[in-house]
Amino acid sequence: MKKHNFSAGPSILPPEVLLKASQAVVDLDGSGLSLIEISHRSKAFVDIMENARSLALELLGLEGKGYKALFLQGGASTQFLMVALNLLEKRAGYLNSGSWAAKAIKEAKIYDDIYEVGSSKDANYNYIPKGYEIPEDYDYFHCTSNNTIYGTQMKEFPNSPIPMVCDMSSDIFSRTLDFTQFDIIYAGAQKNMGPAGTTLVVVKEDVLGKVSRKIPSMMDYKVHIDKGSMFNTPPVFAVYTSMLTLEWLKEQGGIAAIEKENEKKARLMYSEIDLNPLFKGFAAKSDRSLMNATFTLENENLKETFETMLKEAGISAVNGHRSVGGYRASMYNALPIDSVKVLVEVMSELESKA
Ligand code: PLP
Repeated sequence: MKKHNFSAGPSILPPEVLLKASQAVVDLDGSGLSLIEISHRSKAFVDIMENARSLALELLGLEGKGYKALFLQGGASTQFLMVALNLLEKRAGYLNSGSWAAKAIKEAKIYDDIYEVGSSKDANYNYIPKGYEIPEDYDYFHCTSNNTIYGTQMKEFPNSPIPMVCDMSSDIFSRTLDFTQFDIIYAGAQKNMGPAGTTLVVVKEDVLGKVSRKIPSMMDYKVHIDKGSMFNTPPVFAVYTSMLTLEWLKEQGGIAAIEKENEKKARLMYSEIDLNPLFKGFAAKSDRSLMNATFTLENENLKETFETMLKEAGISAVNGHRSVGGYRASMYNALPIDSVKVLVEVMSELESKA
């Protein structure tokens, strides 16, 4: 039976990407060698890395604008400390819009005081804080574009007087933005890009070199830039698969085209949540994420029936995160609209049964 995979991450990838990636593990492009048994210094892999790096910049509209793309290891969580090590001299401002943002704050606090410019912790992060000021004399401002756990998404970004750093782990490549407003963008691959194991980091080179501390080589963006994202052995499979997804995205028409699909999927999902009296959305309506829809079932007595129906329809991974409860439907780029239709049908069938 066809499965409908709503996983929040690691999550769904296009089937053609999975097929090509799995073939490359056995035989890379007819070379007779596996992708994972060739040297990362071979021409075949250097070309893959360079293609992945340039596709990332091209799709974000950042080519020729002073940015470099890196594929690093350690997940987005390592970026929480790398950002601070590379940019934090005196003080930084952070927007506390969810528990990933709070984790970024915790890591940066190891190096210096951090100022929370705004927080929505008071309401279990069900909205995006607004109306905050960013102090002009700070080193940088950090925000999280999409809060995976709570299903909230920043629709607007502040006109930051200082460098802006953004964790885009769960909505990278999903919507058009002026990406030049950011100085550092980072995103773990495992939602819209590829398997876990690599993190895309896009750095505007002129924000670097301003801190007085010594930075360990593996933590230093400049070292990775100078070495073409090959300072040490890169996660070859994750980078290759990410490259395939970026090629797929380009074939779809790029971010603008996929954004239209993402909007259709989200519209379908949220209209069911709002019209069906059995369900209630978690996130504030104006801040709802196009990627992760969070909702609760109002009548606990229907839980078992609903979950059996979900299973019978081949729907997987719609359980909410433990800190929110209820359900979460993650609708990343590769999720077909038909999967959303199936979920919405199950929800409306439950209403007719209740
Ligand atoms: N930031 C956000 C917004 C996330 O959703 C996640 C993981 O889901 C992370 C950071 C942590 O990423 P990683 O597990 O790659 O360290």
